[in-house]
Amino acid sequence: MKIRLATVWLGGCSGCHMSFLDLDEFLIDLADAVELVYSPVVDVKNYPENVDLCLIEGAVCNGDNLEILHKIRARTKVLVSFGDCAVTGNVPAMRNQLGIDNAENVLQRAYVENAQNNPSVPKADGIVPQLLEHVRPVHEMVYVEHFLPGCPPPAARIKALVAQLLAGTAPKLEGEQLKFG
Ligand code: SF4
Repeated sequence: MKIRLATVWLGGCSGCHMSFLDLDEFLIDLADAVELVYSPVVDVKNYPENVDLCLIEGAVCNGDNLEILHKIRARTKVLVSFGDCAVTGNVPAMRNQLGIDNAENVLQRAYVENAQNNPSVPKADGIVPQLLEHVRPVHEMVYVEHFLPGCPPPAARIKALVAQLLAGTAPKLEGEQLKFG
């Protein structure tokens, strides 16, 4: 039976997913081994039940991220923090340095100070998800089984981790797999 694989894009730039697509011919091996049940690269609207493995790109930045993350955890056997934003907060967490009102400061900067027309902060009414007061790495919100660092993780590193997980072995990255290309 095929492994039910998901990939998720939270607060990130999609660079980690671009690196995933850079897996080249391993994508063909992957297509034989997995069923891609949820991902930015497939048109599935709702995160399904009974997912075996999920790669999560991006930090937890807003209420929408947090809501789907809890759903993902409840419906997935193995989670991988995919890339430095998921592992540490990385780029999106830079706003944490702005202090306790950093969410409001970010909205002011984006929608008022930099606006050329109609400067105003949108209400949290669905147009802009409610920002969390601090951006958090994924493992601070839910339990994560494995970590795949890099900004983005090189394709060879992604391949090494995913291949080991699909083979049912405890993943271990070493040597060339830890070098940046
Ligand atoms: Fe983008 Fe780097 Fe964050 Fe991946 S880790 S989402 S490449 S900024």
